Amino acid sequence: MRPFWPISLFALACLPALATDAETDFSARARALHERLVTLDTHLDTPANLQKPGWNIMQSHNVADDGTQVDYPRMIAGGLDGGMWAIFTGQGPLTPEGRAHARNAALQIALRIHTMVAAHPDQFEIARTAADAPRIAAAGKRIVYLSIENSYPIGEDLTLVQTFFDLGVRVMSPVHTAHNDMADSASDASPAPWHGLSPRGRQLVVECNRLGIVLDASHASDQVFDQMLALSKTPIILSHSSCKAIYAHPRNLDDDRIRKLAASGGVMQLNSLSAYLVDTPANPDRNKAMAEFFGKYGGSRSLTPAQTEVLNRERREFMAKYPVKRANFDDFMKHVRHALEVVGPEHVGFGADWDGGGGVTGMNDVSCYYKITEALVQAGYSEKDLSNIWSGNVLRLLHAAEDFATKQKKP
Ligand SMILES: [Zn+2]
Repeated sequence: MRPFWPISLFALACLPALATDAETDFSARARALHERLVTLDTHLDTPANLQKPGWNIMQSHNVADDGTQVDYPRMIAGGLDGGMWAIFTGQGPLTPEGRAHARNAALQIALRIHTMVAAHPDQFEIARTAADAPRIAAAGKRIVYLSIENSYPIGEDLTLVQTFFDLGVRVMSPVHTAHNDMADSASDASPAPWHGLSPRGRQLVVECNRLGIVLDASHASDQVFDQMLALSKTPIILSHSSCKAIYAHPRNLDDDRIRKLAASGGVMQLNSLSAYLVDTPANPDRNKAMAEFFGKYGGSRSLTPAQTEVLNRERREFMAKYPVKRANFDDFMKHVRHALEVVGPEHVGFGADWDGGGGVTGMNDVSCYYKITEALVQAGYSEKDLSNIWSGNVLRLLHAAEDFATKQKKP
């Protein structure tokens, strides 16, 4: 039977080469279910692309051509209603200049997200409360929550948390891949300075609770996770993380901690970045070449469209010269199934790290996102389970954060 949703080129790219009628019929039903859900991804690194010269969120792009994974047409194709659009700043020096630079960069990214939404008011809308997501989805628009990955921009000035809250930030993580003012990182090999959260990191937790921001422990060390879980008055999130039991990366979470997270009402959102899913052998030559490549194109904001073309061509050549072992869709689903087996569908969701290194063979960009629903329907999960997994759980956390903040304001 012919599926009743319009097959786009995107969908063809996600389908197996040969499908029986029964398989196609099943896919159509799973797809229809997927379209009924409100779907959120809690870690979209797409704001980094908004500054690319000539790049337009309203046009469809091809990940093989320009490396991007999310745009409006592909969100429609994959059935993604929206998510947390990340204000990410890489960790730099812990100096007044470094912190000021990070603060300015983060404010500019927030502005860029708002500019994108303002330019396309019929397609996107900023969400500030848990109740906004279903309302915006019902209006047929994409949902834009803001999140902060790495609190480096907050630096020594915690009043900036309020500033970013006012700009719409509702999820915030203290740290990225290097230790900083707030906390120890899971993936920094140098001695951990804080053995968890720093005194300011603890204040950050209190301030996020006060305002109604959900705390995010992705990238944080296990000790930071434990301390955030103990300190936070509302359930925390792992916005894009994977399971240590499936692949023992220091950035992944062990089963005991996944259970503790669930016991406190929290949610783990599964990542699709290959290096966290499967063993990818170290390649020093590639790392060196990559550092040179980034050094050459670090300031890509100032490139002309013609120079961007050259960059994209060189990026393709680089990928061909230094291929990396990639995880595939089954590898990703192993982590998803494991998390679901350990804590069940009320504590699991997705933050696939699109435009931040995520994507696996068989699910290369957001246009293939509905495949997860297909796989989970096949595995016996109900529509209610899927509704929780795709957004209900995250919205529960946002509700809890809002409720706590509201209660604090009462005399
Ligand atoms: Zn990340």
